[in-house]
Amino acid sequence: MTDRYAVIGNPVAHSKSPLIHARFARDTGQDIAYEAVFSALDDFERVVERFRAAGGRGMNVTLPFKHRAFALCSVHSERAQHARAVNTLVLEPDAIRGDNTDGVGLVRDLAVNLGCALSGKRILLMGAGGASYGVCGPLLDEGPAALVVANRTVSKAVELCEHFRRVYGRAAALLAPAGYDALGGRAFDVVINATSAGLAGDMPALPGSVFAEGALGYEMLYGRTTPFMTLAARAGAECADGLGMLVEQAAESFFVWRGVRPQTRGVIAALRAGRS
Ligand code: NDP
Repeated sequence: MTDRYAVIGNPVAHSKSPLIHARFARDTGQDIAYEAVFSALDDFERVVERFRAAGGRGMNVTLPFKHRAFALCSVHSERAQHARAVNTLVLEPDAIRGDNTDGVGLVRDLAVNLGCALSGKRILLMGAGGASYGVCGPLLDEGPAALVVANRTVSKAVELCEHFRRVYGRAAALLAPAGYDALGGRAFDVVINATSAGLAGDMPALPGSVFAEGALGYEMLYGRTTPFMTLAARAGAECADGLGMLVEQAAESFFVWRGVRPQTRGVIAALRAGRS
């Protein structure tokens, strides 16, 4: 019998996850169906329950439900605990297990697809929302020389760094919180934009001098050229968007559900070419 999976969000119609998982299923010979499920803002828990009661085996969770998904789960993976957010639900008869694959998705895109090893690098992470919580632990695991978290609301960057110092112990001594105005005179090898500013055609007040020579500017949004990408290119940095991260986090979710790791390179290329 075909196993059912879905992505749940609000909005969700734009999601590329059904395309990506259909391609993974085809490539790996897995018999699954994957759909997009819209949830009203006050209905998330009931919609998940209904999907589970109808035989659903797993869900991806997207904006704005990742924190509520964390609260809904009875069992959490270590990376979900660190992130305090869940983007992957495993629906079992007696339990809902939660995982977070965003961080591993970003690190694989950087290290494998873009050939940017993070060990010893100076990393600037912009934003202190759900996405930053998801990626901080996996970034620290790569052993960077420094990881600075900058945010418009500085208190949220402070809170994020305190959380990771608590859960990561010594490794998190690498973390330092900052406002954008404190970044003048500092340079980084990898600058990751994990803010949602680009959605509104905006960007944080980032000095162009933060890009070290040969730096990579990584925009988590995809499908558009954002002001951050324009600034990075003007500063001579290489640029990448978040499409690879999207596919890599999906591949990790697929692995969590099915125990099979799909190939990602062809899927990323097909999405970029509009062929999927
Ligand atoms: P949140 O809403 O949790 O956080 C938004 C963050 O952006 C906050 O730090 C906020 O700062 C900051 N921000 C928003 N607008 C501005 C602005 N104009 N200037 C400066 N800072 C701003 O969102 P998420 O963390 O969940 O997502 C962030 C982005 O990452 C989204 O665009 C999302 O689409 C993308 N993403 C991509 C993924 C992928 O697979 N490619 C996976 C996950 C996320 P403040 O605290 O001051 O409000």
